[in-house]
Amino acid sequence: MSPASDRITNFIAGSWRPGRERLDIVNPSNLDELAGSYSLAGADDVAEAVAAARAAQPQWRAATVEQRSLVLDAISRALFDRKDELARIAATEGGKTIPDALGEITRAAHLARFFAAEALRAPGETLGSVRPGVEVDVTREPVGVIGLVTPWNFPVATPMWKIAPALAFGNAVIWKPSEKTPGISIAVTRLIAEALEAHGMPAALFNLVIGAGPNIGAAVVDAVDAVSFTGSVNTGRRIAVRCAERMIRVQLELGGQNPLVVLGDADPERAAEIGVNSAYFHAGQRCTATGRFIVEDSIHDAFVAAMTERMAALRVGHALLPETQIGPVIDEFQLTKNLHYIDTGLKEGAQLASGGGRLDRPTRGWFLAPTLFTETSNAMTINREEVFGPVASVIRVKDYEEALHVANDTDYGLSSGIITNSMKHARHFQANIQAGMTMLNLPTAGVDYHVPFGGRKMSSYGPREQGRSAIEFYTIIKTAYRAL
Ligand code: NAD
Repeated sequence: MSPASDRITNFIAGSWRPGRERLDIVNPSNLDELAGSYSLAGADDVAEAVAAARAAQPQWRAATVEQRSLVLDAISRALFDRKDELARIAATEGGKTIPDALGEITRAAHLARFFAAEALRAPGETLGSVRPGVEVDVTREPVGVIGLVTPWNFPVATPMWKIAPALAFGNAVIWKPSEKTPGISIAVTRLIAEALEAHGMPAALFNLVIGAGPNIGAAVVDAVDAVSFTGSVNTGRRIAVRCAERMIRVQLELGGQNPLVVLGDADPERAAEIGVNSAYFHAGQRCTATGRFIVEDSIHDAFVAAMTERMAALRVGHALLPETQIGPVIDEFQLTKNLHYIDTGLKEGAQLASGGGRLDRPTRGWFLAPTLFTETSNAMTINREEVFGPVASVIRVKDYEEALHVANDTDYGLSSGIITNSMKHARHFQANIQAGMTMLNLPTAGVDYHVPFGGRKMSSYGPREQGRSAIEFYTIIKTAYRAL
């Protein structure tokens, strides 16, 4: 059942398989240490996984709601029980601090527990017909085999908010995680397979294929009945086009350039505490992180001073050290991209208030100083595109109306926030911000697990994830007419 060596990487048709090409993952906190050695699946592995999932799904579909609920509950308990072991893997290969990783795994456990209950109350309704002597049943059925393509920044919680509803509502799963975080994907798959087998269900319902996006990810998209994707806009767009060609359903959660408005009536210290939390933890690699602080002129200087003071005290370093608050960025590609954006910001006239370059630490790692730009405009590249690193900008505005206009002047619409004591502005912002999620006096990052998650514009496509909305994607409605 368990992979015998760390090169036995893919879980296909109920058994662990070696892949072909070798995949070495280096610890981003210490480039002299290998975090793990794995192997990549091939396109024929994907075909076999899909065939096995398709063969196993009818038994799962026919299982009682209680049987499905018990499997989800077992997954939840295993996540709670093994959270320390899982957190260490996530920290070693992904650069998350241990508290960050524990928070994520606990959230994933809660997600599985939430969907254990949802499995029991899968809804349906009986209505009267407009025709005499006829009744109408509206019921929900599983979609079939779902392909889940996920990124590296939340390698447990993001997959779990797809895996849990997919299984809860009777589907089989092919999971293609990011090839940057194979170790944690294997550990999560192991506990899911154990939960299925412990309840007499075929482990082939759940398949893990690790590989590069353009070949293995694309092979999954080409073979399944529906695709739920989280990742970048460019990849998402490509997947959506392919799904449209195949006429299968698709759900995309993509990037963001999230605004946090700070109004003049706010307390600058509180605003800075929320601001630092919004932009920099997990090295800014959160799709809901703040990229743009849109700050009213009257509080601008006090806010920037409070931010830079707090930023100077942030402890950036090896993810496994207890004193570390912010770990490295995940890899060289990400670091180079972040540094390129910093350079572009400077070239376009932004001023550095804090950070701006790499940090030396006792171990060689991808450490980047939390960076704050001031004197930026909303037209600058750093404010138009998603940086996805510990980099944020301050945009000075004259009043609330300009702040709202700037906040909405973006291609994205995932999260947003406002810091104010004004009920009038808070209510107006909530009603008029073009974002899927909005926060009052809270960081833009950090959401609950039992309510819908998603965005607008280029940040999302298709039905919402999480909460009671998740059922929309993972089930198909059937309308049945019955003459009595
Ligand atoms: P990415 O798009 O590069 O990769 C995401 C996944 O897609 C990976 O598993 C990758 O292997 C796969 N993939 C790549 N090309 C593919 C293709 N042609 N066909 C099929 N699959 C393919 O994104 P990333 O760098 O892993 O993640 C960072 C991005 O994810 C950021 O833009 C971030 O905002 C976004 N993100 C969004 C949310 C959200 O819920 N909105 C959450 C987390 C991350």
